[in-house]
Amino acid sequence: TESYVSAMGEARTLNAYVVETAEKALAMAAKSDERIQSGEAGKLEGLPIGVKDMFCTEGVRTTAGSNILGEFVPPYESTVTSQLWRDGAVMLGKLNNDEFAMGSSNETSALGPVVSPWRREGDSAPLVPGGSSGGSAAAVAAYLCAGATGTDTGGSIRQPAAFTGTVGIKPTYGRCSRFGIIAYASSLDQAGPFARTVNDAAVLLRSMAGYDVKDSTSVNRAVPDYEDAVGASVKGKKIGIPREYRLEGLDPEIAGMWEEGAQWLRDAGAEVVDISLPHTKYALPAYYIVAPAEASSNLARYDGVRYGVRVPGRDVVEMYENTRAAGFGPEVRRRIMIGTYVLSAGYYDAYYVKAQKVRTLIKRDFDDVFALGVDAVLAPATPSPAFGIGEKSHADPVEMYLQDIFTVTVNLAGLPGISVPAGFSGKNLPLGLQLIGRPFEEETLFSLAQVIE
Ligand code: GLN
Repeated sequence: TESYVSAMGEARTLNAYVVETAEKALAMAAKSDERIQSGEAGKLEGLPIGVKDMFCTEGVRTTAGSNILGEFVPPYESTVTSQLWRDGAVMLGKLNNDEFAMGSSNETSALGPVVSPWRREGDSAPLVPGGSSGGSAAAVAAYLCAGATGTDTGGSIRQPAAFTGTVGIKPTYGRCSRFGIIAYASSLDQAGPFARTVNDAAVLLRSMAGYDVKDSTSVNRAVPDYEDAVGASVKGKKIGIPREYRLEGLDPEIAGMWEEGAQWLRDAGAEVVDISLPHTKYALPAYYIVAPAEASSNLARYDGVRYGVRVPGRDVVEMYENTRAAGFGPEVRRRIMIGTYVLSAGYYDAYYVKAQKVRTLIKRDFDDVFALGVDAVLAPATPSPAFGIGEKSHADPVEMYLQDIFTVTVNLAGLPGISVPAGFSGKNLPLGLQLIGRPFEEETLFSLAQVIE
């Protein structure tokens, strides 16, 4: 813990941590030592962890990367983080993220962008760590924590994991409790871990997962010992390669790595088959209707009365307007406008209801391939390696949304997905492959990911 605490302090230029809880970490580590000495060590005893700023942490400032929460200090702890502490993990601090987890580069955070520890070979230009869990990905990659929590609504664990050469898993919707996680789009949001190895990710997910009476969408199913799945044989597993993910103009390095990954799985005894997920092309438009719709509703609570900042006005309506105009950044405002538009009378059926129907079709695509005996789908995690800070954020917002092309289907269908480092680009940047599994079969993903790792 001491060495992580000092590393965290020395690496402030990355802007990964937005709150450092060094004193708390050392106190928790001392308690850990006592438990180890008395033979009562938990499964994560003494493991130093960083927490994405979307998780409420009791007594520790939580902002979701937004000015609107100001200096908000939650009076309670999220279920996922409380389970980590229950098992002996030590909290190092809070990690930066895109504002309300909206973004794919960590550039929308009100607390400033996160800088990836990676650089293109022969080029010192700073790169994004991906988003929205950019602080978590950068901190794990730069050895500023042993593991971190993330949230994934449309790829925010898997895409930054791919950009930083770390392992990130979004479990099945309902696997982890959302209690105490600041809501972005409630029907898509899931928590999951970032780690440097598949095994570490398995150990962390075991602690984070589980039924919680405080989240009605969490699922009451036993949490398996995921660590047992790491290293298990993948012989006879059927892996699907979706033809619709072979996009025209796909980065040849990504395409090459995808083929290589399939070969490694074949060499390990898996069977690789071509499959079709015919509604894939509608996933991004459906996601960018459903997610903003839910977000606009979830963000209605930031009214200057209950949390964080308040900017006065002549009357209460003007106070709301002033507070929300000052508190929300441009990307969040854009999403609220899209969300309220697609939910408004007259457009609701044309956009929101249509997007929900598309969502069902996307889920059925996966049901159909699973019914054919496919155990997991192999696809790239991102369409390209990490890009430069400022490179895409100044362009058309849609260009940033295209980053999520391989990840959003998984959230729309509620499935588990893991991103695992699979190789390097010609410029020596990490590249990630994604495995998508059947509902509640995270174990299969851990076994397959270990072959690729
Ligand atoms: N980039 C996507 C978005 O901005 C996904 C973000 C996430 O998973 N939280 O909505």
